[in-house]
Amino acid sequence: MPNKPLTIALSKGRILKETLPLLEAAGIRLLEDPESSRKLIFDTSRDDVKIIIIRATDVPPYLQYGGADIGVAGKDVLMEHGAEGIYEPLDLEIARCKLMVAAKKDAPPATGRLRVATKFVNVARRYFASQGVQAEVIKLYGAMELAPLVGLADRIVDVVDTGNTLRANGLEPTELIAQISSRLVVNRASMKTRHAEIQPIIDLIGQAVEARRESA
Ligand code: AMP
Repeated sequence: MPNKPLTIALSKGRILKETLPLLEAAGIRLLEDPESSRKLIFDTSRDDVKIIIIRATDVPPYLQYGGADIGVAGKDVLMEHGAEGIYEPLDLEIARCKLMVAAKKDAPPATGRLRVATKFVNVARRYFASQGVQAEVIKLYGAMELAPLVGLADRIVDVVDTGNTLRANGLEPTELIAQISSRLVVNRASMKTRHAEIQPIIDLIGQAVEARRESA
């Protein structure tokens, strides 16, 4: 009986656009445009490979529990999830940004307990604990920048690219938590049981990342 297809988990948006050329280097091309389709599972130019398109924060659980063999996820999302059961063989060097603490411009320095609004609650708790700062972390799902403006929080933890969103809301970055980029991730069990299929894909994508870096 033929093996079930290898499943690759991707998410829509900037990561997808930058990932597709890297997958093409491994001979994996989507047969239709996912941006204009309502499908969730896509055929590719390889009969043995399917692509599923899911929310970025769902990529780690799909990988962890074997719903996908391979995936692409931001380091921010992996740090928040904990990446248990997930092997991270390649930095794809795409969708670079910074995970930062930000505050209202001219906010007083932290004294006592800080209220922190973020969707990265685990990252924020770990970071402030490592700094010896007491933090009450409030989970939000979007528009973190609003929280300090209405007095909901003293700080936010969010991903920052140009910093324009912070500036437009009278905020400024105060501390760098981590440099972020997207990573190729593999389910640990698949890495063992389907090594002969997965390793060549990792190698070809790794070569494409290197070639792009050299031509930059
Ligand atoms: P900025 O360029 O700093 O104004 O970024 C605008 C917003 O885009 C940020 O608040 C983030 O939510 C989001 N963003 C920027 N870069 C990334 C990235 N690499 N991955 C995910 N979200 C990002």
